[in-house]
Amino acid sequence: MDLRYSEADEKFRGEFRSWLNDAVPAYGDPPPPHDWPARRAYDTGWQRTLYQAGYACIDWPKQYGGRDASPTEQLVYFEEIARARAPYVGINFVGIKHGGPTLIAEGTPEQKARHIPRILKGEEVWCQGFSEPGAGSDLASLQTRAVRDGDHYVVNGHKIWTTYAQVADYCELLVRTDPAAPKHKGISWLILPMNLPGIEIGPLRTLVGEGEFNELFLEDVRVPVEDRVGAENDGWRVTNVTLRFERGTAFAAAIYSQQEFLADIARAARQVTRDDARAWDDTALRKEIGHAQAELDALWAMVKMGVSESSKTGVPGIAGVAVKLLYSELDQRLGDLAMRVLGRAGLSRDDVGGLPSKRFLATALKSISLTIAAGTSQIQRNIIAERILGLPKER
Ligand SMILES: Cc1cc2nc3c(=O)[nH]c(=O)nc-3n(C[C@H](O)[C@H](O)[C@H](O)COP(=O)(O)OP(=O)(O)OC[C@H]3O[C@@H](n4cnc5c(N)ncnc54)[C@H](O)[C@@H]3O)c2cc1C
Repeated sequence: MDLRYSEADEKFRGEFRSWLNDAVPAYGDPPPPHDWPARRAYDTGWQRTLYQAGYACIDWPKQYGGRDASPTEQLVYFEEIARARAPYVGINFVGIKHGGPTLIAEGTPEQKARHIPRILKGEEVWCQGFSEPGAGSDLASLQTRAVRDGDHYVVNGHKIWTTYAQVADYCELLVRTDPAAPKHKGISWLILPMNLPGIEIGPLRTLVGEGEFNELFLEDVRVPVEDRVGAENDGWRVTNVTLRFERGTAFAAAIYSQQEFLADIARAARQVTRDDARAWDDTALRKEIGHAQAELDALWAMVKMGVSESSKTGVPGIAGVAVKLLYSELDQRLGDLAMRVLGRAGLSRDDVGGLPSKRFLATALKSISLTIAAGTSQIQRNIIAERILGLPKER
């Protein structure tokens, strides 16, 4: 597939850039991280603004309100969002990047009609209830139980690390519907309305200080059978569709933002002085920055490959795991580099001496979680070894 930008792509870029140039400053600054209702209002408001301008979920099929954007248009979209430092999906990462796409691929016509337009317009926020205290990397070991009772499943269990559950309307919930079957065969994928009786949300504080994580305690929660996506006990297959969206192009805009971050690090290196010389005068540091830029270029080429692949099948290919692995590990190296450039100024949670300490520190701390979220680096390496390179299975 030709991934060079055409005249039509550049026309789209011009239109979108000029819209962003007005829309981003007009939309205003994000609210404080702990103000969850305000964060929901801010992120869903931006989604609505995108929708009204015809720029929401452009990779979705036209039939579902997207634009059927070509792979190169999608790349232009990510580049322009990052360039304009526009808000991006925010608290509805799950709904926009993998819950909605999973419904488009696997949902019934009724499920699509009920949820897709609302996700698109920023009216519905989703979270992901996959992990459990005893089931993270080995997700198929999950124990949350769903027992059929007429037209409902009665769900009991405990989910953990449920990001943004406190602002979500629905949850992608994995449950065990057949405990006697081999572990991958007895799972179902449910749409859990978060306002049902029996759901308790407990916040978990992170290193960054934000309470974005939660535990979900589910006690006799009655979920309508019509809210199951895919066949009963076929949830592992549906889960893999969701994970491919999650590990596919979902990080593309963030990867492009890394380019901006590296440019900011280089800018800071020109400002910082040590022993009467600028940090930038250190050849080893410049070499490191150059190396990081080369890695970012390689990563962006891999994103292009993934976008091209998913445009052929509608679902991102397995190579998305390599993008996720490289992106998350590079993010940690960039965070470390930023801290070294800042030196003592990096100890402050506020900007110091005209340096962006606050943002650099937040980015560096956040990066620590990225090699765990959406599957750890070790798990991505296992998948690459077994499913891409065809090496023997670990067990
Ligand atoms: C920022 C962030 C957001 C998240 N958001 C959500 C969310 O919204 N919803 C949700 O359901 N979950 C979420 N998670 C949870 C995430 O999916 C799990 O943390 C992840 O899958 C790892 O599981 P675990 O924490 O149980 O670690 P474990 O699986 O217990 O792993 C512990 C260590 O053992 C290693 N390990 C485990 N198995 C193997 C193996 N077979 N081979 C080699 N090494 C192995 C791991 O790599 C890791 O280093 C989030 C996590 C983070 C960090």
